[in-house]
Amino acid sequence: MKFTRFTANSSVYTGVLEEDTIKVINGDFFGEWEFTGETFSSADAKLLAPLEPNQIIGIGANYVSKTEDLPEQLPEIPVFFFKPVSSVIGPEEEIIIPEGIEQVKFESELAIVIGKEAKNVPESDILDYVFGYTVGNDVTAPQFFHQDGHWTIGKSFDSFTPLGPVIETELDPFSVRVEARLNGAEKQNSSTELMIIPIRKMISYLTNVMTLKPGDVILTGSPVGAEMVSAGDVIECQIQQIGNLRNVFVTAKEAAKTY
Ligand code: MG
Repeated sequence: MKFTRFTANSSVYTGVLEEDTIKVINGDFFGEWEFTGETFSSADAKLLAPLEPNQIIGIGANYVSKTEDLPEQLPEIPVFFFKPVSSVIGPEEEIIIPEGIEQVKFESELAIVIGKEAKNVPESDILDYVFGYTVGNDVTAPQFFHQDGHWTIGKSFDSFTPLGPVIETELDPFSVRVEARLNGAEKQNSSTELMIIPIRKMISYLTNVMTLKPGDVILTGSPVGAEMVSAGDVIECQIQQIGNLRNVFVTAKEAAKTY
């Protein structure tokens, strides 16, 4: 099922997308919900980020370019970082390049949405705690990485975490390709099999550290090919089975004009 959040007629709705129709639902899609009977054509709906995350955790440098490069020994402590929930935007919203810099980096990623509270869950059971999957763009300003290695500021600006267009609950995350097109030209296109820390290990590891909750989002890392981009560039992050997450980069000044 493809869950969406959207606005139509100035109201915010949650729904299930089926081809060109969105069926409105009532309730919490992590728990109890029902169809209301109301429907919208997707052409009349402006999609929002498909959830308001509880928290966002990313993993750094998690792809190799080809299977032969996968390391035999995995790092003992994976590089995880947090992104603030205030950095989330939806499809077609503007990504704002912070004042004082000219360029930022896009990173197309498979984003995992947790659906059930998870603590100390073994790898074999961990997918039972996943609600579904969406596409994330882990926008990054490396100019703001601290020299001591902290990434937080460079990952945290408003608009730096586009998510969407939907949460697909019926995805096999091991057989998808993570793609990015910059101004129409392909820049990233890798199978999730090229992840260094695989999905089950990544989530299970996190549950040994912290209790994961419904609405937590885990950004699973970006394939090779991410690039620095400037105002006016159009980025489309895509996983075919989920959809296409398109956003335009603007300068902080241009954004100020818009809002
Ligand atoms: Mg990333």
